[in-house]
Amino acid sequence: MSDRRNFVKLTLLSSAALLAGKNVLAQTDELKDRTYDTKKDAPVVISTWDFGQEANAAAWKLLTKGERALDAVEAGVKVPEADPKNQSVGLGGRPDRDGHVTLDACIMDEDARCGAVACLEEIVHAISVARLVMEKTPHVMLAGEGAQQLALANGMKKANLLTAESLKEWKEWLKTAKYKPHNNIENLKLPNSRPGDARNHDTIGMLAMDKKGNLSGACTTSGMAYKLRGRIGDSPIIGAGLYVDNEIGAATSSGVGEEVIRIVGSHLVVELMRRGHSPEEACKKAVQRIVAKNPNMAKDVQVGFLALNKHGEFGAYALQKGFTYAVRNGAVDTVYDSKSLF
Ligand code: ASP
Repeated sequence: MSDRRNFVKLTLLSSAALLAGKNVLAQTDELKDRTYDTKKDAPVVISTWDFGQEANAAAWKLLTKGERALDAVEAGVKVPEADPKNQSVGLGGRPDRDGHVTLDACIMDEDARCGAVACLEEIVHAISVARLVMEKTPHVMLAGEGAQQLALANGMKKANLLTAESLKEWKEWLKTAKYKPHNNIENLKLPNSRPGDARNHDTIGMLAMDKKGNLSGACTTSGMAYKLRGRIGDSPIIGAGLYVDNEIGAATSSGVGEEVIRIVGSHLVVELMRRGHSPEEACKKAVQRIVAKNPNMAKDVQVGFLALNKHGEFGAYALQKGFTYAVRNGAVDTVYDSKSLF
């Protein structure tokens, strides 16, 4: 296309987008690449790991009633947050190296509104506090004591998140622990576990499209087990652990958060979908970016990305074998193994 035609096209698109109050760049890119049929495959909900299936069921109930994707993802991830047997999210989460369970979470809706909490203690539903940040404050992220204050001021109750099981494992870890955080492949060699076991990993990231075709996402975790006190991973960071662009798609991640933050992973996946890549291709390219930045390290850590586009198509890709994800739509309610680079 000639420069002049490009200019005319962009000018027309920009004016139309401005009139519609939409993001100009997103509009031009979208029209260049594809046209979305937003309602065709809605509703759909996908989430990280095997335990995502139970969480999807709670989200699905709301989605089939025609509720907002935002309400569905919050309700969905609250299931593992409240489950004391799930040692990677909310109540029962594994503590930091000093024995404190600290939670990270974020949420994002179809209007790019978002909220996050980091290092939140003694509150089970970190995701609901993230939503409070989004809806009741002018900010995007609150940390530690301030996040807890917001929760308490809005009627949430304090709870001891460190269960007997997680306390016992932490005490065992202390016997031999090196005084540094480990990644989630090497630090949790539990009896009878394999690298891909859900219990070896952290974080539920959930993405949903509602009947109206609107997208939202939620991500919540107790983070890397035995992390340094104050460590924050990718999960509460908009663009890293979660990103939603209602015109294109949404992405989330699980695995070693430091590697995801370095490449702003979930935002990268969404931008790759904007360029026309399928969700799986976009996730694969993000994984490859991690390897390109640090090939030696990449062999020893796990990172998995999960993505959903505006067609209701989904896909995942991980560095290592063992990353799983759960999908619920009109056709399936199942857990898939992700493809991986190694
Ligand atoms: N991404 C999480 C974190 O780094 C952990 C995980 O998903 O395994 O805190």
